[in-house]
Amino acid sequence: MFDGCQALVLNADFRPLSYFPLSLWSWQDAVKAVVTERVHVLNEYDQVIHSPRRSLCLPSVIALKDYIPVSRRPAFTRFNVFLRDRFTCQYCCQPFPSHDLTFDHVIPRSKGGRTNWANVVTACQACNLIKGCRLPQEAGMHPRTPPVTPSSIQLRENGRGFPPNHLHQSWRDYLYWDSELESV
Ligand SMILES: [Zn+2]
Repeated sequence: MFDGCQALVLNADFRPLSYFPLSLWSWQDAVKAVVTERVHVLNEYDQVIHSPRRSLCLPSVIALKDYIPVSRRPAFTRFNVFLRDRFTCQYCCQPFPSHDLTFDHVIPRSKGGRTNWANVVTACQACNLIKGCRLPQEAGMHPRTPPVTPSSIQLRENGRGFPPNHLHQSWRDYLYWDSELESV
């Protein structure tokens, strides 16, 4: 019944744990963290839940009491490759939703190319098909940005550019993009 009442989760420095996807917890997890005193409550919904012993407003923004260090080396995952490349095909330079994207080995695996940050780029299905198993110079297709290992900070910055569809009013103070949204 409180399904829409997710809580925005901030690190102990009051920045979101993650921007994309935005760090949100279900109301159940948020309440559990409040009851076990692992978080500070910064803002609340109007909805109240009652237990035999106490009543509690559902939290809408919470901050961890213990800081979670942001790891310096981001994991090499499909999602993070897309995020590094800002969900943009590195060949035709068009942005796509993630389900329309795939990744391309700049130097094909059949020619010794490795599966790592320096050789994998985001590509749309069409460009991936056209390039096939050819080298960039053979296909005349070069990635727009030479692929490198991103820093966690860079990924976080990129994630800021992709606000979710739904933003609760109480979250906006803690997010970077609220002023941009309001000017739309
Ligand atoms: Zn493309």
